[in-house]
Amino acid sequence: MKKTILITGTSSGIGKATVIEFAEKGWNVIATQRNPEKETDFNAYNNVKLYPLDVTNLNSIVTTIQAVKEAFGTIDVVVNNAGYGVDGAFEAMTDEIIEKQFNTNVFGLMRVTREAIKLMRPQGGGMIIQISSMGGKITFPLYSIYHATKFAVEGFTESLHYELAQFNIKLKLIEPGPIVTDFYGRSRQFVKPNDTDAYDSFITKFNDAAQNVMKDAEGPEVVAKTIYTAVTDGTNTMRYAVGKPGPMLLILRKILSDKLYFLMVRKSYKL
Ligand code: NAP
Repeated sequence: MKKTILITGTSSGIGKATVIEFAEKGWNVIATQRNPEKETDFNAYNNVKLYPLDVTNLNSIVTTIQAVKEAFGTIDVVVNNAGYGVDGAFEAMTDEIIEKQFNTNVFGLMRVTREAIKLMRPQGGGMIIQISSMGGKITFPLYSIYHATKFAVEGFTESLHYELAQFNIKLKLIEPGPIVTDFYGRSRQFVKPNDTDAYDSFITKFNDAAQNVMKDAEGPEVVAKTIYTAVTDGTNTMRYAVGKPGPMLLILRKILSDKLYFLMVRKSYKL
């Protein structure tokens, strides 16, 4: 029998590439989006079904999961992909900006996870894939709030896996490095103070170096393939690093002292 996967945030980037990866592998794919009426890229796949889902709106999550359950019976895998990044100077970030970032990347992911568990436990199991980031284990300048959300996703998921193993529900974390998507374009929220230029030189140096990193960045298909591996490899591996230079940086962070890691980051961004 065909397996069913539900993915959040599939209008672009990693979410869209993951829909296509699983559709081409013959799965039933539930592609969810905030505004699915705009979507046309999945028309070629009759095994892809579009549903509305905004991770900040519990009602939309419950309604869609219920509708999918009625249509397909079970959901084997849920991918928590929806998310975006706030960057810039922390002192300019309002409560509203911080709360919205957490409401999407952390509380949204928790809501979907909770509703997925309620469905998967009685059905005898399933898998929940969290799209974290290399930024859930290591940090770079000017991403304090984004890192805080992804560090939260890592801790939440790691603790949760203990209680869900008894119900045959697996949890896995995908940790992408820099990936060419709308993350750095339309989805980005950049913040700096209006009343001072105190951060300008730091921000310019960081952005110049970051653009260089992006020249070598891979496309979202590489993450989609890693998600497919995580879902199908039959192991209990929890973390999958992907997207150069992410995997190498994660190893360096494990073996370097804080002092050496901070020095390496400062040097690479000329700070
Ligand atoms: P993207 O192309 O900007 O895609 C983000 C997706 O999330 C869009 O489909 C967006 O939908 C959706 N989304 C945002 N808020 C939502 C909400 N409240 N409810 C439902 N969907 C929502 O960026 P991406 O790189 O593919 O990002 C996907 C995930 O990968 C994120 O969790 C991100 O943190 C993570 N990640 C990205 C990178 C990277 O370098 N690109 C690296 C590590 C981790 P709309 O069209 O409605 O805005």
